[in-house]
Amino acid sequence: MKKPTRVNHPPPVELPPGNRALVPPIYQSVKFEFESVAATEEFLRGERPGFFYTRSGNPTNRELEQLLAQLQDREDCLVTASGAGAISQALIALTRSGDHILSFIEGYGPTRQLIRRVLARFGVTHTLLSIEDTAGIERVLATQPVRLVHFESPTNPVTRIADIEALTRAARAAGALTVMDNTFAGFHQHGEYDVDVFVHSLTKYASGAGDVLGGAVIARGELIRALRADFSVLGGTLDPHAAFLILRGLKTYFVRYRAQCASALAIAQLLAAHPAVARVHYPGLPTHPQHALAARQMRDFGTIVSFDLAGGDGACRRFADALELFALTPSLGSGESLIVTPHIMGARDLNAAEQKISGITAGTVRLSVGLEDLDDLVEDVTRALAAAGS
Ligand SMILES: *Cc1c(COP(=O)(O)O)cnc(C)c1O
Repeated sequence: MKKPTRVNHPPPVELPPGNRALVPPIYQSVKFEFESVAATEEFLRGERPGFFYTRSGNPTNRELEQLLAQLQDREDCLVTASGAGAISQALIALTRSGDHILSFIEGYGPTRQLIRRVLARFGVTHTLLSIEDTAGIERVLATQPVRLVHFESPTNPVTRIADIEALTRAARAAGALTVMDNTFAGFHQHGEYDVDVFVHSLTKYASGAGDVLGGAVIARGELIRALRADFSVLGGTLDPHAAFLILRGLKTYFVRYRAQCASALAIAQLLAAHPAVARVHYPGLPTHPQHALAARQMRDFGTIVSFDLAGGDGACRRFADALELFALTPSLGSGESLIVTPHIMGARDLNAAEQKISGITAGTVRLSVGLEDLDDLVEDVTRALAAAGS
């Protein structure tokens, strides 16, 4: 073999039987081959397991899929290049022209825009209600066929809690699928409820480091099998290197999530006792209007603390600018603490009536509490509150 040939066919190293890597390797390969045309044919006919092309399947991605399915108490999973990709591919694969989607105003902006702007172009209609509008939910389910109900809990950014039991029961009775964006609560929560499809952004708590994008769709095996063929042609596949980083992040998922929840509760309590703060939205506080429901549904109340500053827009700007440890940037779930001012930085597609339902005011602040020392975070928030109030 001449050297230009050799560099394209390096000598393979295979581990001998009985010898394995403790951390599985990254299969950073787009292509996989079988030993013959006949074997390839068998694979393509579905008569033999294996991998062929990473857009349709990759061993590193598969490892992540199997782990996430177990964490969320479901049979199977598909990972995607981002959380938005998981949601868009799932909703595209699950709907057809003429179908109706029920979803909610209090939620992640890009998902709302997907339903309103993109799916509407393909004849998929929708109703957007408040997650608290129980009568409206029953009315919509009773008056027309609904293909699926898409919801979040806690909602972004003001942490309203969906009554998952009631919602999934009503949807099931009406023959509608439920799709729950469970990013805020995490993989270890809500699995015991009768939710058909969970979607997650892996960019947040799974990676935990804020250095990689990813998404996941988790459901019973038969549903994932049906979605897999569509996902393969839609093409928003996760890169195996990203899957490796997310698998690495997941090793510390539980300790991170719980430590961040404990700090989030302490900060929520501090905010609730401060005169510059009009209202705190944190499901773990007994003053949250749905605390009892949250306590029934959740083991950990999350790392997002939203609140309204009494001084409105001006106070909100002063508070955000005065913080030193909280980065002024979107996203959540990373080791660094983050701050978003939703009125200024998001939810631009909401009209005045929807804005009111969304619970976002000119003084609303959303904090994502990170892994810094709690004393340092308390000091930073206390100083910024003084700046906001002045
Ligand atoms: C971030 C987020 C998404 C989108 O995830 P990306 O990985 O950023 O595409 C979807 N839903 C919720 C609730 C999110 O917080």
